[in-house]
Amino acid sequence: AIPLVVAINTSLAARNGMLVRDRIAMERARTLDTVVFDKTGTLTEGEQGVVDIETVDGVSDETALRLAATVEGDSEHMIAQAVREAADERDVSRGAATEFEALKGRGARATVDGERIHVGGPNLLSELEGDVPAALERFADRAGENAQTVVYLVREGDPIAAFALADVIREESYRVVDALHELGLEVAMLTGDSEDVAHAVAADLGIDTVFAEVLPEDKDEKITELREQGKSVAMVGDGVNDAPALTRADIGIAIGSGTDVAVQSADIILVQNNPMDVVRLVKLSRASYRKMQ
Ligand code: ADP
Ligand code: MG
Repeated sequence: AIPLVVAINTSLAARNGMLVRDRIAMERARTLDTVVFDKTGTLTEGEQGVVDIETVDGVSDETALRLAATVEGDSEHMIAQAVREAADERDVSRGAATEFEALKGRGARATVDGERIHVGGPNLLSELEGDVPAALERFADRAGENAQTVVYLVREGDPIAAFALADVIREESYRVVDALHELGLEVAMLTGDSEDVAHAVAADLGIDTVFAEVLPEDKDEKITELREQGKSVAMVGDGVNDAPALTRADIGIAIGSGTDVAVQSADIILVQNNPMDVVRLVKLSRASYRKMQ
């Protein structure tokens, strides 16, 4: 009987804008008890713009923007795009970077005018172990309280500026969390962003569990931990970083606008890029299962 149900399921799913790569995953959706969401680009729009800049004495906003945009010149990350846009908006030209390297889940680095420059978040800062000036620390605290993502500009190991980036929670995310709760599911968030930002967004959405400042290579471990607690777990994400976690989950769900890597690692792809389809998926699976009884 199962193949028939699966067949019904998948054609219904297709009509609802879900691409099912693993048909058994569709069946498993009825037994889920936890849904884990990536934050940036999944629960939020992910179109972050630079809304504020703080620098140490002797460094102008323009210099900070020029250095950061130069380092981020070759990075595909959303934060890099936002930094480049901020520089463009202020007519700050970019310099030449050599030895560019993307640091997954941390930031980016390059050499500019012979100096070693890093741009990145809290994960990067703790690795570089440089002293954070009080002015930048205060700036980061304030930004965190406003759920803004902070990235630092580090010159030769010293943090010299910080940028606050604003992201907005997707309208649909509020309804998704409520609807999943109504279905009796637990909702968690898994992100590389700071604890501050993650908890602010989670509190706003009513999310139960937060895993923040998680490096890309550790994301799948969090999924394993949940599964070892006996939970049946779906992971929803869009980024290259989410791919191992998508593979590790009972059900990996990629959001339509996601990267190829995420899509290839997923069991189900939400073609319409609507997180509300996660709710539809669970309902569809439960309804089809009842039909079979
Ligand atoms: P998420 O888990 O929210 O999708 P990522 O794993 O892509 O985010 O990145 C985690 C964190 O690493 C970001 O919040 C940021 O602090 C930092 N980061 C990653 N790439 C860059 C970059 N190119 N420039 C600046 N910061 C970056
Ligand atoms: Mg993401």
